[in-house]
Amino acid sequence: MKAHAIRFSQTGGPEVLSYDEVEVGDPGEGQVLLRQTAIGVNYIDTYHRSGLYPMPLPSHLGQEGCGVIEKLGKGVKGFKAGDRVAYASAPIGSYATWRLMPAARVIKVPKEIDDRTAAKMMLQGMTAEYLLFRTFKVKKGDTILVHAAAGGMGLILGQWAKALGATVIGTASSDEKAALAKKHGYKHVIVYSREDFVARVKEITKGKGVPVVYDGVGKDTWPKSLDCLATRGMMVSFGNASGPLPPIDSRDLNLRGSLFFTRPTMGHYTATRPDLELSAGRVISAIKSGKLKIRINQTYPLREAAQAHRDLQERKTTGSILLLP
Ligand code: NDP
Repeated sequence: MKAHAIRFSQTGGPEVLSYDEVEVGDPGEGQVLLRQTAIGVNYIDTYHRSGLYPMPLPSHLGQEGCGVIEKLGKGVKGFKAGDRVAYASAPIGSYATWRLMPAARVIKVPKEIDDRTAAKMMLQGMTAEYLLFRTFKVKKGDTILVHAAAGGMGLILGQWAKALGATVIGTASSDEKAALAKKHGYKHVIVYSREDFVARVKEITKGKGVPVVYDGVGKDTWPKSLDCLATRGMMVSFGNASGPLPPIDSRDLNLRGSLFFTRPTMGHYTATRPDLELSAGRVISAIKSGKLKIRINQTYPLREAAQAHRDLQERKTTGSILLLP
């Protein structure tokens, strides 16, 4: 059948993206055919497009979405036509009106959660889940630091960490973004475009530093993020919105207080079906209980994916971004 998808045949800026007619086949063994209803935009999509994370070309794009199962391939159990499902996983190709997905990577969406929320809860939600519960276990009484607090990851991490009983310090580049972050769990927001965030974190923690820094900014906050950590604290470098980190010198971790460093990726924390169900299950429970709200502050028609990328990379967006097929 004919469908439409965003593709690129050379890496570069948002202008390399094209909206093409594509052929989608019948679902093979273990696959489902999805009529997509909403598609999540994530920073990683810009790394694939730009070539920072190389992909075989030409390529489709995107790894998050929600849709309705229209057909099942051989051997698919536990799903039926008409089920609403969501996913955040390889294979790449969610920027599309229709697509095939392995049934093993999709999760049923409960009736209380609408398609737009479902499409956007998966990648950033499951990332927040593993970062807060499994990379470093945030507990009541911890004071933690999260960079880019008003972004997609930032608004989710702030709400969820607060619900776990943490005092959350955030950073943001403007007063407007700081005000938004404060409505989403952050007790303190440092406007790092004009304030020294290391000095402010030290002041807030009375010189002690924080036990964990969640840093999706990368190059621009390195190595200052390390200076915010308490002795034996953990540096969680989970993204590179401003560019990748330079090679790490182990002495930087030693001299600053026997620090831990990790560079985690959602794929490794949701690779098995039990891990995927654990992670998605926690996200769904947090949404259903009202602890977590997915803030979709920008939506674009699918064919305008390039504009969504521009706005995300020019720091114009807050919260999460959706494409509508
Ligand atoms: P965001 O909505 O957070 O957008 C990125 C934000 O980073 C911007 O809004 C901006 O906030 C800040 N930023 C700082 N410096 C720059 C810069 N030079 N250029 C652009 N932005 C900058 O994006 P996401 O929520 O989608 O992702 C946040 C990070 O999390 C990304 O690095 C992403 O790769 C990572 N990630 C990692 C995952 C993993 O499993 N490892 C999974 C999901 C996301 P401000 O203006 O306030 O500085």
